Formats: sequence, structure tokens, C-alpha cells
Amino acid sequence: MSWLRSSPAFFVRCVETVLSPCCGKCLRVIGSRKRKLLINTGEAKLLVIRRLRCKSCRQIHHELPDCIVPYKRYESVCVEQVVSESQQASDVAADNATLYRWRRWFREQTTYLLGCLSSISIRYHQEPAETSSSSLRSTHQRIGRYVGDAPGWLARIVRPIVNANYWLHTRSAFLSRRP
Ligand SMILES: [Zn+2]
Repeated sequence: MSWLRSSPAFFVRCVETVLSPCCGKCLRVIGSRKRKLLINTGEAKLLVIRRLRCKSCRQIHHELPDCIVPYKRYESVCVEQVVSESQQASDVAADNATLYRWRRWFREQTTYLLGCLSSISIRYHQEPAETSSSSLRSTHQRIGRYVGDAPGWLARIVRPIVNANYWLHTRSAFLSRRP
């Protein structure tokens, strides 16, 4: 399994207080780049993503706004809507192959993502919210233990997992699948 190491996307709300995922040192803004992000209608909006450099090892990182899921062209709320288990139809204007790929991606990553959340919560001594144990059947409920199940949960799991350097490149995840 290949970890995302070379140039991880990195969420930064405030560069002054967020430390680099590589060394835990300060980050310095060194520029920006543009990135297109598709919204539910299929239209693109343009984001300006800041480039940041670790003051210790000089590795380059890119900030990751809440609306982005790494390696996905659509914004986070669209992906969340499609992979959610609710019966509600999504209004995302994407072709069926894309929708299918997202659902498969999420199904395949569920155990891994839950493992990441568990390991992060142990690292920071944050016990997940207590729930009656027998009711944790759906993926949504299990993720909700860590980040709450209100809309926006996908964005809420992406940020800590990326910052912990656990986010997998989707292609690598595919390559590591057993045939
Ligand atoms: Zn560093």
C-alpha cells in the first residue's frame, strides 16, 4: 500500500497555528495554484489553493479546503450525498460511471477510514461518543461516532485523516486490492 507522501494536500485554516504533517513544524505560505472543483450542477468553480512549505524539511504542501476530497473532481458535499446510504436520490450531475466509482471507493475504504479515525482518536486520547453498541450497524452511524452524523461528515473525516498523512491515493488503493 502506498501512502500519500510526496506532496500531500493539507488542510490549513490558519497557517500560523497549524503545523506541518511531515515534521510538526511551522508552515510558510510560498504561493498558490488554481484548482477547478465541480459543483452538483456539473459546473466548475475555481479555487485558489495556497502552497505551503515546511520550515524544517522544506517539503511542499497544499492546503485542502473543507470542500475538497483529495483526488475527487467534485466538491465534498456531492460525493457525500452519493455515498450516503440514505434512499434519497442525489441531484449531482455526474455520469453513472462516476457515481458508481464513488460508491465503490467508499465501500472499499470504509474499514480503512474507520481504522484511521480510531487510530487518530487514540493518538489524541479522544474517545468516540458512546452509543448503544448493538445499534452501530450502518457505516454512517459508525463514522458518526467520531465526527457526528450531520451533513458535512465527509469533510469532517477528510481533514484529520489527510493531516495524519493517512489518506490513500485511490489508484494505489485499487492496485493493492486482491484480484
Ligand atoms: Zn517537514
